[in-house]
Amino acid sequence: MHKIGIVEDEGSIAELLKLNLELEGFETEVFDHGGKAARSLDSLINKDLIILDIMLPEVSGLDLCRQIRGVSQVPILMLSAKGATSERITGLKAGANDYLPKPFDLEELLLRVQNLLPQSEQNEVKTWQIGQVQIDFNTYIAHDLTKGENFALTKREVELLELFKEKEGVVVSRDEILDRLWGKEQFPTARTIDNYILSFRKIFEEDAKHPKYFHSIRGVGYRFTP
Ligand code: CA
Repeated sequence: MHKIGIVEDEGSIAELLKLNLELEGFETEVFDHGGKAARSLDSLINKDLIILDIMLPEVSGLDLCRQIRGVSQVPILMLSAKGATSERITGLKAGANDYLPKPFDLEELLLRVQNLLPQSEQNEVKTWQIGQVQIDFNTYIAHDLTKGENFALTKREVELLELFKEKEGVVVSRDEILDRLWGKEQFPTARTIDNYILSFRKIFEEDAKHPKYFHSIRGVGYRFTP
């Protein structure tokens, strides 16, 4: 799990960041004072990313940024009420990797955070095994360990499998699937989803007529049971 340090003296903004980053699955620690953050430099740089406000009591975000850069290359996303170009350049010169003026859009902030995080963990091999078949989410290959056969999956098939993985044991409605895989503009028929499930059964089930993993719940949707 990625750890994010939030250096922000405005309580409401710190709380908003903390809440939303934790909802995204990050661990957070808030430093609500520039001086305190400077005195806890060791703990601050022991993070995967730092969100750093510029206007802080005692030690400014710019000074903190320079101090951090003296000892660490941890990614820094700088925040400031001042969106002026000159300040942005000063921030980047001080060693920040990215800069976001306040008020910021939360979704944009989360995307920038994702972009700044070390790539290694995002690129690691992600696999999932259903019965005797192993799925590689990076290469879109399903490999049957017993028969030694490979099946090439489409992007939508992989996305649907990821959705089932997230919702193990829970009924996933047709609407949820349509929303997630096709968005609001396209309207595939229910039969389209049925065809995905049929093809999953052929790949993953020992007996496609008596499925153990991919169940249809009539009139509602589907459930994946591990
Ligand atoms: Ca501030």
